[in-house]
Amino acid sequence: TSSIKNERCCLVSLSGSGSTDSGGARGDSLDLAAHDAPDARWPRQNSLSMKEWDIPYDELKLFEMIGTGRFGTVYRGSWHGAVAVKLLHVHSLTDHCLQLDTFKHEVATFRKTRHENLVLFMGACMKPPRLAIVTSLCKGMTLYTHIHLRKDKFTANKSVIVAQQISQGMGYLHARGIIHKDLKTKNIFLENGKVVITDFGLFSVTKLCFGTNARGDSLGIPPGWLCYLAPELVRALRPHASLHLPFSKDTDVYAFGTVWYELLCGEYPFKGQPPEAIIWQVGKGVKQSLANMQASRDIKDILMLCWSYRANERPDFPHLLSTLEKLPRKRLARSPSHPVHLSRSADS
Ligand code: ADP
Ligand code: MG
Repeated sequence: TSSIKNERCCLVSLSGSGSTDSGGARGDSLDLAAHDAPDARWPRQNSLSMKEWDIPYDELKLFEMIGTGRFGTVYRGSWHGAVAVKLLHVHSLTDHCLQLDTFKHEVATFRKTRHENLVLFMGACMKPPRLAIVTSLCKGMTLYTHIHLRKDKFTANKSVIVAQQISQGMGYLHARGIIHKDLKTKNIFLENGKVVITDFGLFSVTKLCFGTNARGDSLGIPPGWLCYLAPELVRALRPHASLHLPFSKDTDVYAFGTVWYELLCGEYPFKGQPPEAIIWQVGKGVKQSLANMQASRDIKDILMLCWSYRANERPDFPHLLSTLEKLPRKRLARSPSHPVHLSRSADS
């Protein structure tokens, strides 16, 4: 049975003044008629081909809830077989026409993706207020569950295999012009040793879910989010402005650096520090110290490069992949397509 997670956000006051509750949910009702009109900004051909990816909501069978994240609630479902259905929270739409466009645009982006290390996008329900994304159901556990909940230990060799597959999936996304914007261990599944990346390009649908986290002058920071944010993103944090952060391929590489650190160290960088302290340090270019880390110079170099303060000094994924391939391995006779076997730590 799956546990239902309902995580609370950390509120960080950015202005220093007392926060005034502007009321998160505005409860705007949706004007359905507005969405039935043809959208002038979408070429006709495009909107026709979009139809292929429309899944009528009634065709979906929803079973138990798997969990709740920033954008919506994920259910185990059935649509020509087992699927994961991400129902978006759309109760608090403000400028909903524009946001529906954003959603459609993102759906148009997903359908272009076909890669072994990316979750299979199957379609979407695009009739408000029923907005949902349907993907294949990932069978394994997330890296987050392995690393932080089960305390599974990844050897350097296993970490390299996982990192190579992440780099392959991310390299593919970037080559197709897609920025993930939310690369984190919670969005990376391990299915029999194969990496499956989820939730790429979805970040801007938070526009649809706007109002769930932000209050007054405070910024809602989901737990474990900050340490994936590159300095240029941290510096751009404002109340309500996480919607307009300057994400780029380079910010994805920074996030990959954090995933690489978690794989190797079994914890988040800046562990136990309050959000304000992390924001201040990352914004100034202070990195998590690697002094106590048991790893070779090459492995630490990858980390430091990915976490470069200047975005243009970070490597790209093809470069990372070739660096990872060149790492000296201890008695490693597996190729990336072979399963990664994990050992449980003695205490779990
Ligand atoms: P987050 O990524 O922050 O955990 P999500 O809303 O993306 O939040 O996911 C909510 C829950 O649903 C998580 O437990 C996640 O592992 C699970 N989940 C998301 N997508 C899938 C999928 N395609 N297959 C199986 N489980 C999924
Ligand atoms: Mg997710």
